[in-house]
Amino acid sequence: MKLRAPLIGVLAMQGAFAEHMRALESAGARTRLVREREDLDGLDGIVLPGGESTTMAMLMERTGLLEPVRDAIQGGLATLATCAGMILLARDITDGMPDQRSLGLLDIGVRRNGYGRQVESFEAPLHIEGLNGKTFPGVFIRAPLVERVGDVHVMAMHDGHPVAVRQGRIVALGFHPELSGDLRLHREFVRLASGSS
Ligand code: GLN
Repeated sequence: MKLRAPLIGVLAMQGAFAEHMRALESAGARTRLVREREDLDGLDGIVLPGGESTTMAMLMERTGLLEPVRDAIQGGLATLATCAGMILLARDITDGMPDQRSLGLLDIGVRRNGYGRQVESFEAPLHIEGLNGKTFPGVFIRAPLVERVGDVHVMAMHDGHPVAVRQGRIVALGFHPELSGDLRLHREFVRLASGSS
């Protein structure tokens, strides 16, 4: 375990990055907004937040961040991806924009906005592997539906579909832990980024 608190970058193109910064700091991490390539230097972890995956991918491409972020994650940087972040990482995207770019590093297939219009937003108690005690309040906002999982470990299911998966040092969630008021997943991620889980 490192003596210094791990430094975690939060991709700040668009979306729910401020809430992640606050949650990570409350969970004991040092944080940095990631807006350009240099911001990746020296990170122990990165968060790809929720928002709009198409806009995020476009802005990443424009700012020249798409390839460096892909390289960093592929090189083993601890990664927490939530909602749109999960879509950005997914290998296959259904109902995306025709030219939607993705990092394509996580062996899952997702359907954008796959929970349908009637249930654009909902909250569900989740049983998540590795979290002690009570269920986790899963806040879903126009969430991606995970329709295929390949060589990943499923950490939680809801309604017959995976909503939390892990692949090596990548953790991807279909919901928004930063909006739940529950810090347990951020604490686990801070531990992962510090090399202790
Ligand atoms: N539906 C959004 C997308 O396609 C994701 C929603 C979210 O991140 N809350 O990117």
